[in-house]
Amino acid sequence: MQSQDYIRLEDTYNAPNYAPLDIVIERGEGVWVWDVEGNRYLDCLSAYSALNQGHCHPRLIRTLTEQAKRVTLTSRAFRNDQLPLLAQEICELTGFEMMLPMNSGAEAVETALKAIRLWGYQIKGIAEDAAEIITCANNFHGRTITVLSFSTEASYRDGFAPFTPGFKIIPFGDAAALEAAITSNTAGFLVEPIQGEAGVIVPPEGYLAEVREICTRHEILMVADEIQTGLGRTGQLFACDWEAVQPDLVTIGKALSGGVLPVSAVLGSREVLALFRAGSHGSTFGGNPLGCAVAREALRILVDEELSRRARELGSYLQEGLQALESPLVHEIRGKGLLIGVELTPEAGHARHIVEALQEQGILVKDTHGSIIRFAPPLVIDKEEIDYLLDRVEAALRAAKTQLAHTNTPLKAS
Ligand SMILES: *Cc1c(COP(=O)(O)O)cnc(C)c1O
Repeated sequence: MQSQDYIRLEDTYNAPNYAPLDIVIERGEGVWVWDVEGNRYLDCLSAYSALNQGHCHPRLIRTLTEQAKRVTLTSRAFRNDQLPLLAQEICELTGFEMMLPMNSGAEAVETALKAIRLWGYQIKGIAEDAAEIITCANNFHGRTITVLSFSTEASYRDGFAPFTPGFKIIPFGDAAALEAAITSNTAGFLVEPIQGEAGVIVPPEGYLAEVREICTRHEILMVADEIQTGLGRTGQLFACDWEAVQPDLVTIGKALSGGVLPVSAVLGSREVLALFRAGSHGSTFGGNPLGCAVAREALRILVDEELSRRARELGSYLQEGLQALESPLVHEIRGKGLLIGVELTPEAGHARHIVEALQEQGILVKDTHGSIIRFAPPLVIDKEEIDYLLDRVEAALRAAKTQLAHTNTPLKAS
């Protein structure tokens, strides 16, 4: 079968809740993927930062297959010999006291929201049903109805009402707005250290430290969603580390399994996470031995291959390389580590055009919000591969500029 055959099948039998590029991947290795025709591409999306360790990392695949032969799922009705070790290792690595394992990122966020409310009622003493949670405009925390309840993105929300009450939305990056929004019923503040899906929006320097101080002073929980920014992506283990901030709760997912299985978790203090009681929360697959074994190995790879340091150094190299292209079609380049957003000028038209040009050059990236292209390759990328990427970005931007000069109208998405 050719790509077109797969695309036709998918479009016929699979719900169209995505608009993927027309590339059908059949194999991946490190930073590279191959389509069914055998063409090779440099993956600069990393499944939204789930593939920090690269595609099919040999150590992960070995752990996966070895554990799969032993036992894959016990449910939490029984204990298994991987969950305790993951919990211990993740706490020792991150400095948190406890973990609560789930599967998808959205589930970890839902778990954090439940933890905030439990803490608000049982420890802070908020009156029954009155707890409020503050969140930020343009956030992305997943796709469940409750998470959509505090989304500000119409395309995520439209058609899915009614929503869950108890949330307040303030501007991102504005510590004063947080302070002003807090009431005696506020239990917590949920924030992404860098808003990835919004287009790699980096808050003003000092924001996270200020948030930490405000949350402590007003006795509310600071909850950082590090599902995309965590585990090395921004050049530190957590993006909050850039400001030496320890949130009360952190959600992680995506790269926690190195892109092999859905494994997510909430990390936090005993004071908060020990409020959960048997029966108060759960997940059939959460904490399964297969996922835990793979996550343990994924964390060891993060440490052994110094992926945070690589992200920091190679991220600077890539950002500087993109700046040096000095393309008139680029309005701004921003980000931290290997989480980089390139915002095009309005004259450049829809970013999808550049994305498709890059695809033809063997580079996989994704546009967001029409004008932004995110560059987030696996953290195992090397300098030569970044040079390869930069050459092709330069060519794509130059070609788009030339075409623009000829037509004198903004490029449309095809
Ligand atoms: C991807 C993401 C989620 C949701 O994770 P899923 O595994 O898709 O449910 C939540 N928060 C952030 C910041 C994310 O990037």
